Amino acid sequence: MSPVASSPQASRVQVLIIGGGPGGYVAAIRAGQLGLDTVLVEADRLGGTCLIRGCIPSKALIHAAAEFGVLRRAKGDNPLGLKVNGEVGIDFSRTLRWKDGVVDRLSDGVGGLLRRAKVKVVRGWASFQDARTCEVTAPDGAVQTIEAEHVILAAGSEAVALPHLPFGGDVLSSTEALSLAAVPRTLAVIGAGYIGLELGMAFAELGSKVTVIEAQARVLPQYDAALAAPIARALDRAKIEIHLDARATGFEKGRLTVEPAQGKTLHVAAEKVLVTVGRRPRTEGWGLERMAVDMDGAFVKVDDRCATSMRNVWAIGDLVGEPMLAHKASAQGEMVAEIIAGHRRRFDPAAIPAVCFTTPEVVSVGAWPEPGPEVLTAVFPLAANGRALSQEADDDGGFIRIAARADDHRILALAAVGRHVSELSGEMTALLEMGAVLEDAAGLIHAHPTQSEALGEAALRALGRAIHI
Ligand code: FAD
Repeated sequence: MSPVASSPQASRVQVLIIGGGPGGYVAAIRAGQLGLDTVLVEADRLGGTCLIRGCIPSKALIHAAAEFGVLRRAKGDNPLGLKVNGEVGIDFSRTLRWKDGVVDRLSDGVGGLLRRAKVKVVRGWASFQDARTCEVTAPDGAVQTIEAEHVILAAGSEAVALPHLPFGGDVLSSTEALSLAAVPRTLAVIGAGYIGLELGMAFAELGSKVTVIEAQARVLPQYDAALAAPIARALDRAKIEIHLDARATGFEKGRLTVEPAQGKTLHVAAEKVLVTVGRRPRTEGWGLERMAVDMDGAFVKVDDRCATSMRNVWAIGDLVGEPMLAHKASAQGEMVAEIIAGHRRRFDPAAIPAVCFTTPEVVSVGAWPEPGPEVLTAVFPLAANGRALSQEADDDGGFIRIAARADDHRILALAAVGRHVSELSGEMTALLEMGAVLEDAAGLIHAHPTQSEALGEAALRALGRAIHI
């Protein structure tokens, strides 16, 4: 949609928020709670990338795939003695309806929360004329002008396309991959970051023959080698073919051309090609250039209060930089609403957790330090944890690791690989955010049997006194 001539209808508002994703809608709810007169403009459904075509539908698909995998394995010989007599199948259209139902419920819920906070939601495409004047074109073409005291930009991000493999037809972004009518027989995934591997593993579990092509020398290049190694083994076990140091250069008639850095060009059979080579901030098509805000590379530049270079224009979430994660967007949104209401706030988290929902999962909190005499590190294997064993979560080579300063034992970073470890991200983040030392983590009484005991054991091990290893 492009802006059309200004309508006579113009309104003034205290806070105008562009984008109803986890950044924008949380900012709007908090602003409403604080009594600020708030308008939220969203062109699509409420919930943004995360809720409509990202975090939530992908995790629903991953869950359905895992359940299907349990059934499939129960057909054969398995240590739990599960038996399925007869055929195992999946009605994928029903799976999609269920996944869409989860999304609908959450999106409707966001609408309800916004109503309760007295936020006015305007459906339409926002386009700025200057830093505080915005024209919104509704789906029916009607235009309204909104002038705002404060503007919060939360326009999010979009998938990056490969120039020689543009999206369309059988070349998909994650959005289309989450709504495929049927499970493809063959699927090529370009890019072995978390989005590509989460979806690639889910489709492999659902029965696709999956091939992953990655330009770098290992999978999950944004995580360190120790965290990525169990995932590489899991991909191997799932019979997912991996081509590292390789580039996809063309796609025709169900064949993807792959050029490895060394060796001969190959062709990979692919009914569908999923391109997950990254996301970029959505900075075009809505008049950002007319707002005169400074940029930081591709992102909108902000300070530690999420203030842009233009007074009373704020920006949050994927639009302002890494990590492009929903919980970071929400935390910034809440903070900016409070700053506008007069609170003294700064965005200075000790740690922002990152989770990769592959099987096994990866969770990482805090930057892992370079080894040296000034740091203490320890690893505790999940194979020595009762809960992991009782959940068959011990056979992935999973572990929990911890790093702390050698002098005062202050915890610097925590990470884990293993099934269900995403649920440990809360304790890990709390430890870092509260400035805990190894003795704090070791001294917590962790419930038995849970994987969190392994976290306590990792801390004990760093102190040289692990009990269960
Ligand atoms: P977005 O969620 O992108 O929302 C921006 C909104 O602004 C959109 O709804 C858009 O329609 C609207 N908009 C933009 N411009 C205009 C305009 N001019 N007028 C009106 N409306 C406009 N993150 C996690 O933390 N955990 C995960 O497990 C996870 N999984 C993911 C899986 C996938 C497949 C993908 C694609 C992403 C995933 N993410 C995950 C990332 C997460 O979705 C984003 O970090 C998050 O959505 C960013 O929030 P945001 O509010 O900044 O922007």
